[in-house]
Formats: sequence, C-alpha cells, structure tokens
Amino acid sequence: MAYWRQPLDRDRVRVPQGIVHIIEDRCKGCGFCVEFCPQHVLAMSRRTNAKGYHPPEIVDGAHCVNCGLCTLLCPDFAIYVTDGGARIPDRIEPIRRDEGKR
Ligand code: SF4
Ligand code: SF4
Repeated sequence: MAYWRQPLDRDRVRVPQGIVHIIEDRCKGCGFCVEFCPQHVLAMSRRTNAKGYHPPEIVDGAHCVNCGLCTLLCPDFAIYVTDGGARIPDRIEPIRRDEGKR
C-alpha cells in the first residue's frame, strides 16, 4: 500500500500475516481468489488438478495479510488462510501528491 507520507507510528504498526492453504483438487479454476486478492499473493498455475482445472498457486505468500477475502469468495471452499502472526510492514512507500494528475 502506498501512502503520501510515512505513518508516524510506523515502528509500532504490526501487519497480520496469513498462511494460505489451497486444496487443489476442489478448485474449478474460476480465478476469483487471484483476481481479488488485494496483496497479489496468488496467480493461476499451469498445473492441472484432478478435475482438469488450473488451480491457483502462491507467488508472494509473505505479503498475505490474512484478510480472508479469498476464502470468502471461493465458491468451492478450496482455499483458506490460517494465522501466521504479525510482522513489521516493509512496503510503506511514500508517493507524490501530484501522482496521476498529468
Ligand atoms: S487472505 Fe487476503 S491477502 Fe491473503 S491470499 Fe487471501 S485475499 Fe490475499
Ligand atoms: S476461488 Fe476457489 S475455485 Fe476459484 S480459482 Fe480460487 S481456489 Fe479455485
């Protein structure tokens, strides 16, 4: 996430960490979890599951924030997230206020 300034309490903020679990053979390859993950943790894999679909794979698991959106959206109960504790954020990058106004 990008902010226009560094948060003043940055050193005290802890970001939840999620551990993503995919039950590949339940997946029907709809891509909802990949499309809507706010942290871009997932991507569709090239593997084929028992049903003949391409399940998602984890490409950036370190940045899962345990929001649970993928679990909520999955129509086949094929993905869930467990609590992995919390971490200090490493992606708070300031942006310019005039960004995107040109
Ligand atoms: S819990 Fe949230 S951040 Fe983690 S993979 Fe699912 S949608 Fe992405
Ligand atoms: S939302 Fe569920 S069924 Fe759809 S691609 Fe993701 S894991 Fe597979």
